[in-house]
Amino acid sequence: MFSFQSINKYHSFLKENVDGCIIAVDHFLIEIEKKKHLNSFLEVFAEEAIIRAKELDEKRRLGKPLGRLHGVVVGIKDVICYKGHVVSAGSKILENFTSIYNATVVEKLLQEDAIIIGRQNCDEFAMGSSNENSAFGVVRNAIDESRVPGGSSGGSAVSVQAGLTMISLGSDTGGSVRQPADFCGVVGLKPSYGRISRYGLIAYASSFDQIGIFSKTVEDAALCLEVISGVDDFDSTVSEKPVPAYAAELKTTPRKYKIAYFIQALEHPGLDPEMRAKITHLINQLKLAGHTVDPIEFDLLNHIVPTYYVLTTAEASSNLSRFDAVRFGYRAPLVNSDLNDMYKASRSAGFGKEVQRRIMLGTFVLSAGYFDAYFTKAQQVRRILLNKSIEVFAKYEAIISPTVPSTAFKIGEKSDDQVAMFLADIYTVFANLVGIPAISIPMFTHSNGLPFGLQIMTNHFEETALLQLSDHLMN
Ligand code: GLN
Repeated sequence: MFSFQSINKYHSFLKENVDGCIIAVDHFLIEIEKKKHLNSFLEVFAEEAIIRAKELDEKRRLGKPLGRLHGVVVGIKDVICYKGHVVSAGSKILENFTSIYNATVVEKLLQEDAIIIGRQNCDEFAMGSSNENSAFGVVRNAIDESRVPGGSSGGSAVSVQAGLTMISLGSDTGGSVRQPADFCGVVGLKPSYGRISRYGLIAYASSFDQIGIFSKTVEDAALCLEVISGVDDFDSTVSEKPVPAYAAELKTTPRKYKIAYFIQALEHPGLDPEMRAKITHLINQLKLAGHTVDPIEFDLLNHIVPTYYVLTTAEASSNLSRFDAVRFGYRAPLVNSDLNDMYKASRSAGFGKEVQRRIMLGTFVLSAGYFDAYFTKAQQVRRILLNKSIEVFAKYEAIISPTVPSTAFKIGEKSDDQVAMFLADIYTVFANLVGIPAISIPMFTHSNGLPFGLQIMTNHFEETALLQLSDHLMN
C-alpha cells in the first residue's frame, strides 16, 4: 500500500520501484474519488496524469537526469493558468474559459518533473475566508465535514490535509494560504512579494497577490519554493535576488532566534482564550530553550483589516474590469444592442455576490470625491505599517502570532456576517500589506478537536530563516 510522508521518502521509494510514479498517481486518483464529497477538486486530470507518470517512470528506467520534483503529485488552485485546461477562478463568469498559456509556476513545476493532477476549488476570484464564495459549491474540512476549510484556497488545503495530493499551490492576497492551512492542520507558506512570478495567476489585488504552497512538511514547502521562485521576463515585480537552496539550508545546526510578538495581537479580545493560552505557553517554552522572545507594542492592529479591504477592493475593481463579456467571460443573452446593458447583464449574472460587493466598494473608494479620504489614507497606513516592520526587523528575526483568531467555523455560521468574516484575517493581512514572507505551521490541537497553527513572519526575502525556524519548531 502506497502512503505519502514526504517528497524525500517518496524519492527513496521511487529508487526501489520502477513503476513508482504510476503507483502514486493510481493511489491519489483512488483517494480523490473516495473523497469526492469534500469538493476540493473542480477537475481531475486523470488520464494525462497517468500518461505523465508512465513517462516519468520510463525516464528513470533510462537513467536520465531527474527533476527536483520528479513524480511529485501536485494540485493547483483554480486561479493558476495551465495551458489547454479550464481556469475559472471559482466563478461562473469564467466557467468555460480555457487557458492558452502556462503560468510561470506551472512551467517550472513541469520542468522539474512534477505531475499536475487537477485544479482545485476556491472562493470566487480568491475573495473569501471560507470557500463558501465558490460558484461551484463549498469545500468541506476533512477533519469535520460540517466545517469550512478556510479560504480562499480551501480546495488546495483540503487536498493536502486529506491525502489527495503531495503538495498544492494556492494564492495568498491576505491570508488565503495560511488561514486554510491553519484550519486544516497543514503547512501553508506565503513567500515575500516578488519571490515567485505572478505571471499566469488570475489577479485579485496585484500589489498583494503571491502564489503560496501547501504541504505536510516544511521541507517539502522549501523544496517546492526553490523550484517555483525566481526571475521571470513576464513579471517585472519579481526580485532578481538569487534563489537559495531552501531545502538544503534546513539542514544546519539549530541556533537561538530573536523573536518578537505583538502584545495587542495576543491580547485581542477576539482571540479564542485557549489559543491564547497555548501560544503563551509556547512563548515561555521558547524562552526556556534560550531563544529571545519579546513583547512589542503594535497599536495599529485594528487598522490593518480596513486598510487591507480598502486597497484590495480598489485593485480588484480595476483588475476585474477586464471580465467585460467582450474580451473574457460569460456574455448574457442580449436583450437589446446597448453596450452598457450588455456589460451590466453579463457581469450581474457572471459574478457572485461577494465579488460584486467588492467591485462596488473598490470603485467607490477610488471615485473622485472619496479617493483621498479612503484610498490615499489607506496607502499612508500601508507605509506606516512598512515602517513598523522595518523597525521590528532591525532588532528581531521573526514575529510570531496566531494565524487566525479561532478554529474552523461551521459552514454557514458566518456567511451573513461580512465583518466577522473579515476579522478572521486580522493576523494574516499584515504580511501582505508589507510584502514580507509568512507561514502557518500546524503546532496545536484545540480541546474542540480542531487543529490550529502558529504564524511566523520574517523580513523581506528572509525565507531561509522563516523555514529554518518553522522546521525547528515542528520537529
Ligand atoms: N480573506 C481574504 C479576502 O477575502 C484573503 C483572500 C486571499 O488571500 N486571497 O480578501
